[in-house]
Amino acid sequence: MTTNPFTEDHDLLRQSFRQFVAAEITPNVAYWEENKICEKEVFRKMGEQGFFGVSFPVEYGGSGMDIWSAVVISEELSAANIGGLSMSLYAHTYLPLPVINAIGTEEQKLKYLAPALKGEKIAALGITEPGAGSDVGGIKTTAEDKGDHYLVNGSKMFITNGTMADFIVLAVRTGEGHQLSLLLFDTSTPGFSAVAVHNKLGMHSSDTGQLFFENCKVPKSALLGEEHWGFYYIMSNFQEERLIAAITGTAAAENAMEKAKKYMKEREAFGRPIGKFQVLRHKLAQMAIKVEACRSFSYRAVHEYIETGPAAYKIISMAKAYVCEESFNVINDALQIHGGWGYMEDYGIARSLRDIRLMTVGAGTTEIMHEIISKIVIDEVKHDKQIKARV
Ligand SMILES: Cc1cc2nc3c(=O)[nH]c(=O)nc-3n(C[C@H](O)[C@H](O)[C@H](O)COP(=O)(O)OP(=O)(O)OC[C@H]3O[C@@H](n4cnc5c(N)ncnc54)[C@H](O)[C@@H]3O)c2cc1C
Repeated sequence: MTTNPFTEDHDLLRQSFRQFVAAEITPNVAYWEENKICEKEVFRKMGEQGFFGVSFPVEYGGSGMDIWSAVVISEELSAANIGGLSMSLYAHTYLPLPVINAIGTEEQKLKYLAPALKGEKIAALGITEPGAGSDVGGIKTTAEDKGDHYLVNGSKMFITNGTMADFIVLAVRTGEGHQLSLLLFDTSTPGFSAVAVHNKLGMHSSDTGQLFFENCKVPKSALLGEEHWGFYYIMSNFQEERLIAAITGTAAAENAMEKAKKYMKEREAFGRPIGKFQVLRHKLAQMAIKVEACRSFSYRAVHEYIETGPAAYKIISMAKAYVCEESFNVINDALQIHGGWGYMEDYGIARSLRDIRLMTVGAGTTEIMHEIISKIVIDEVKHDKQIKARV
């Protein structure tokens, strides 16, 4: 892929978002990370400036641009090297909102999508449970049909924005086997509670919550799409999350590589800059190859997504698996080039490394990506069959 996919509009967006990041995020990174703060105010400001809605329809407050605009936002956020807050921002935008946009009713879009794009409501996606993550079909939170409402009972684990969210796109069991449904769950509902999960390796400036549902009455109007079709919606509507993970991983790897390049010129050992040692020069060359491969792969996945939508899941799964593994390797090499200083907080490499470690686990683990890919390349499973079957 040789052509530049970005138009003049994308470049203008990049400029204005870069200014926003420099003014509103970068000066606070160290404080938020050290104190494990996920700043609600940033959501409001992002929404006010229209940065959440870049790739969403104009009628709900978006800018109606293509998915490359979301790429611009993700790449520029990576420059701030605050994986935690970035994850919270995209867990708001690219996890729950695309599915509301795809299958929500007009009323649901006006009630949830529009205020979320304005930053007035914070959103989360609640699928994972203490006993079921990759195995989506194993979720146990139930929504019992009580005639005019559902009664929701159960719990969710590791939910990004879990304690801050105003609403959650919530996966619940409404029947046997794969009969799951999605509900638009208001966190003001009596019987709901959330506790923050703080003992994380990284992503300190993100809000992660464990959620509890005790006899929560949810109106039938909160059902998103068709009852019992939740599993299908989850499998087919969450490709943007994986695309954004690949874009973010690429940008994080590139940032770490640039830091290593700079450090190799500054740091001296044995009477010369460490950048004169061939072994480090070749390490950097390999890092550059990996970054380039990550970018080509993830950009190609974006192109295919624009052309075919969720049917591009093969290339998206490949890009997600490849980039999330290799971006960790690149950042790990960047830490090695920084020696002992890399292990300290001073250069931001330590933070990048602990944050990037999540990428092979979240948004579908690498093993699950391999499972999806192997079904396509070995069993030649086609898109429709694949998304109806469990992966
Ligand atoms: C910080 C953080 C934020 C998160 N945010 C959210 C969120 O906002 N919303 C949400 O719903 N979830 C969220 N998650 C959950 C995340 O998506 C899950 O942790 C992930 O899907 C893995 O599920 P699990 O932890 O249950 O691991 P398991 O599914 O128990 O997996 C354990 C291991 O077994 C492997 N494995 C499982 N099944 C197979 C198989 N069929 N073949 C081969 N290997 C397999 C896995 O790859 C993994 O290595 C978050 C997690 C973290 C840590």
